[in-house]
Amino acid sequence: MSSIVAIVGRPNVGKSTFFNRLIQRREAIVDSVSGVTRDRHYGKSDWNGKEFSVIDTGGYVVGSDDVFEAEIDKQVKLAIDEADVIIFMVDVEFGVNPMDEEVAKLLRKVDKPVFLAVNKVDSSMREEDAIEFYSLGLGEYYTIAGISGSGTGDLLDAVVEALPETTEREEEELPRFAVVGRPNAGKSSFINALIGEERYIVTDIAGTTRDSIDTRYNRFGFDFNLIDTAGIRRKTKVKEDVEFYSVMRSVRAIEHSDVCLLIFDAQRGFDGQVQNIFWLAQRNKKGIVILVNKWDLLDKETKTLKEYEARIRREIEPFTDVPIVFISVLNKQRIFKAIETAVEVYKNRSKKIKTRKLNDIMLPIIEHNPPPATKGKYVKIKFCTQLPTPTPQFAFFCNLPQYVKDPYKRFLENKLRKEFDFTGVPISVYMRKK
Ligand code: GDP
Ligand code: GDP
Repeated sequence: MSSIVAIVGRPNVGKSTFFNRLIQRREAIVDSVSGVTRDRHYGKSDWNGKEFSVIDTGGYVVGSDDVFEAEIDKQVKLAIDEADVIIFMVDVEFGVNPMDEEVAKLLRKVDKPVFLAVNKVDSSMREEDAIEFYSLGLGEYYTIAGISGSGTGDLLDAVVEALPETTEREEEELPRFAVVGRPNAGKSSFINALIGEERYIVTDIAGTTRDSIDTRYNRFGFDFNLIDTAGIRRKTKVKEDVEFYSVMRSVRAIEHSDVCLLIFDAQRGFDGQVQNIFWLAQRNKKGIVILVNKWDLLDKETKTLKEYEARIRREIEPFTDVPIVFISVLNKQRIFKAIETAVEVYKNRSKKIKTRKLNDIMLPIIEHNPPPATKGKYVKIKFCTQLPTPTPQFAFFCNLPQYVKDPYKRFLENKLRKEFDFTGVPISVYMRKK
């Protein structure tokens, strides 16, 4: 985990322009129909060889409703909690605004480095205009132009200088979980139950959407990033195909994740749409946990659960080695179990089996069950190894790799699963010429 720099400030001062410059790509979603809306965005950046994460706090361009003011206040407080360093951005074109004063009041109390960045200083004349921001009581300021990058170098020099040194522990990779599924499966409810605090801008204003984002959580003693897709506002006036929208979001979220928590409505069943998402995750070699939600709505006889589970497994053949957890988000049932399982799947996915151990176990199995002879030719597997790939992939070296057919590869895969536990993880088996 690298240090976190948060950019706060009222809407339209240029936060996301600066954020995009820092992370070198557009992460904010632009909804061309209803205006620009966004939630906090996280991205990685580095300056002078120091890596850090950047949060672009939610800034809204749609009108200037009081609703948003209160929400921004909340977001600033959250950013203050999470960040190591804060960049407070103001707009020289507009001058000091009452909302700036509100934010400044919050920031003066913060026991963390705060950098005041006066943005849109595109000319030397504006340098002079910037002086009025002394009145915010935050001391020295940096004049920048986010659009051209002018002045941003000096600001970043100071910012990275103020970053805490990262420790060993902080550099560990965190599991990235994506909660995916069809609309109404319970994704938002699940996430809210999980994180147990209000994190998102949720207003009833039509057309607010947000893109998938990464947010770090520490819950139940687990540290992970949540790739959030549950953001489609149902009250939207925009005529989006909600199903399509959610699939698009799933694709993005799946690509960004290590483990997908595929959640579906037990009453609606593990239908074709849900299966599509399942295979999408499988093809992307992501870890998978299936969450059967709304279990509270089903009449339970003793056999229901087992039968239900067996039906799902039939649909996901041959990749059946996947955990299935029955949950009720409503009753907060087995939410912890769901996350615990996802963490296990994450560990399985990053598992590395030592070559020696792999051969000690797999070669005798192969000897007992060699690949069947094809056209009178015998295949001899001599050696195997796990490839240095991010997900489990295995190479078996033999004399005639082209003669080893899929059923035998599946046999090897099943043995690997049985011996080493790769539950929830797609694994690949390759035959290589020795
Ligand atoms: P946010 O709401 O704080 O994230 O602000 P945006 O990044 O969306 O910027 C709001 C507007 O200010 C956009 O039209 C930007 O093009 C403009 N803007 C951002 N940086 C600069 C700058 O350095 N100079 C000028 N003149 N305009 C800027
Ligand atoms: P999303 O579209 O996947 O984010 O789904 P939501 O979280 O918005 O949930 C859709 C609806 O299902 C809401 O009305 C929830 O209250 C309801 N819901 C979610 N989880 C459960 C559950 O475990 N049991 C029951 N009975 N309803 C649930």
